[in-house]
Amino acid sequence: MRWDPLPKTAASRVTPNLADYAEARSEFTWDRARAALAGLPGGGLNMAYEAVDRHVRDGAGDKAALLCVAPDDSVSTVTYADLADRSSRFANVLSSLGIGRGDRVFTLLGRGPDLHAVVLGTLKNTSVLCPLFTAFGPDPVAQRLRLGDARVLVTTAALYRRKVAAQRERLTHLDHLLIAGPGCEDLPGTRSLDMLMAAAPGHFAIPPTSPGDMALLHYTSGTTGSPKGAVHVHEAVVAHYATAAYALDLHPDDVYWCTADPGWVTGMSYGIVAPLVHGVTAVVDQGEYDARRWYRILGGQRVTVWYTAPTALRMLMRSTPREGPYDLPRAYDLSALRLIASVGEPLNPEAVVWGRDVLGLPVHDNWWQTETGAIMIANFAACEIRPGSMGRPLPGVEAAVLVRGEDGRARVTDGRVTEVERPDTEGELALRPGWPSMFRGYLHEEERYEAAFAGGWYLTGDVVRRDAEGWYWFVGRADDVIKSAGHLIGPFEVESVLMEHAAVAEAGVIGRPDPVVGDIVKAFVSLRPGVDPTPALERELLAFARGRLGPAVAPREIAFDQDLPKTRSGKVMRRVLRARELGLPTGDLSMLEGSS
Ligand code: ATP
Ligand code: MG
Repeated sequence: MRWDPLPKTAASRVTPNLADYAEARSEFTWDRARAALAGLPGGGLNMAYEAVDRHVRDGAGDKAALLCVAPDDSVSTVTYADLADRSSRFANVLSSLGIGRGDRVFTLLGRGPDLHAVVLGTLKNTSVLCPLFTAFGPDPVAQRLRLGDARVLVTTAALYRRKVAAQRERLTHLDHLLIAGPGCEDLPGTRSLDMLMAAAPGHFAIPPTSPGDMALLHYTSGTTGSPKGAVHVHEAVVAHYATAAYALDLHPDDVYWCTADPGWVTGMSYGIVAPLVHGVTAVVDQGEYDARRWYRILGGQRVTVWYTAPTALRMLMRSTPREGPYDLPRAYDLSALRLIASVGEPLNPEAVVWGRDVLGLPVHDNWWQTETGAIMIANFAACEIRPGSMGRPLPGVEAAVLVRGEDGRARVTDGRVTEVERPDTEGELALRPGWPSMFRGYLHEEERYEAAFAGGWYLTGDVVRRDAEGWYWFVGRADDVIKSAGHLIGPFEVESVLMEHAAVAEAGVIGRPDPVVGDIVKAFVSLRPGVDPTPALERELLAFARGRLGPAVAPREIAFDQDLPKTRSGKVMRRVLRARELGLPTGDLSMLEGSS
């Protein structure tokens, strides 16, 4: 059974911000993007001013900034004027507590207006915001508070009890603990955010902010090792603005939904800052993932632009296989939807095609990192999508593929690097420094920061190839690339083929050292609901992969694992699969989903 794809009316009503790729790249400069922002009255650039106050100044105060969808599906609206007021109150709270420029304010808070007020108020006060995942356990929370020199933590009573209380004594630099919502009376040493906010004035004069002032501290996902604290500055808002225009095609009348957790860079840059800078209405989902609920939000809130992640799409794919029937999505009116974008991990071609068949729109993959602060490479709304490719560099972004050395990273000789010449040659992805949202340091790790640059490039640690027309294809992280019998194998390619088999929900592929061939390709596979892990299925999958990939690249071993280790941002942690396989220490697991 096939469900008729959605009529394309929603997409065709809108003139894309990037209609002609070559033209956009030749005309764009970061200075032009900067000039499109308001700037602080009196000079300077402040992220929160661009996100809320300037809209109020321009007469859009009554517009809905947020549609908060509670777990029971009730919806409350927060206007731009409300957000300006609440964030100013929080900025006043901070300054009355003696928290000022550069001081670190941490959040351990779920999505909702409080989080928005704290984030934007911190930025207004020129303090530095660092979000934590609410799913973190006490150790990762304490570790990051310590590393980041937190002076303020905003959380809830329940989260405080479970994740902070036991470590409180040792967090000596933490001066203020603010509790959002009820329950602070029973927690000595804490204060009520609500009461402080109610008593604070709703107007705040943003102090002079220079583009290079530190604004956000984001820990990386910890996929390859211990998380690093990437430092971002107010000027990053220029890139948030330009990239959301081009890669997410935001227009002022969009209803936009970003599903990323606010503890992760995507949830901050594209969950909070970028949509507000564009003056759109953003959906804020305060409930848990559930396929039916997600389709209900997409339809019920008339979402037009949806930014999500491969892991979320794979969950939807499990509940709505491409083979049909499409009862779930068909129960909702998704006709407003005009763009679906994804980030965080390679997007298997199967997911792109699934979007097209099941939701009526293909999924537009894009690539970036905590360090880059904004989307760098993307499949654009109005351009050809090559399924499995992460697209082409954004206007203003100069990318290159560098020749690799023995260790899998770019080869640096006398401080110089070499670009690969032939198309479709694998190498390390590099970016020319100078874009506004580039990280300005790894906190307390000067050498590590310097080591990320060579020969005039920022080295990303990802291996890619570029095709003859300029589309980039993700091969793997330099650390994950498998060397087998003289071949270099990217785990993504193998995983993508396995995922095309109807029995497979997800896959993680690693190299297992072998004295003869170097590495043996081994796949860990989770199965669709109702499929049994039998030896016959194992043989079938091995043969299926061999037929598609050839014997040199196909996995030699398959293990069934319904519980693949993932980071909290949803990425398969191949280093954990590898360590478990080899009986080695698994390293820093603070980011492992389900650990606490
Ligand atoms: P750590 O740096 O701590 O090991 P991490 O690299 O997973 O963790 P993030 O900054 O959250 O931390 O993720 C960026 C990485 O995610 C990229 O370097 C890349 O490996 C992967 N990634 C992001 N988007 C894509 C994409 N569209 N396709 C393939 N990989 C992607
Ligand atoms: Mg990384």
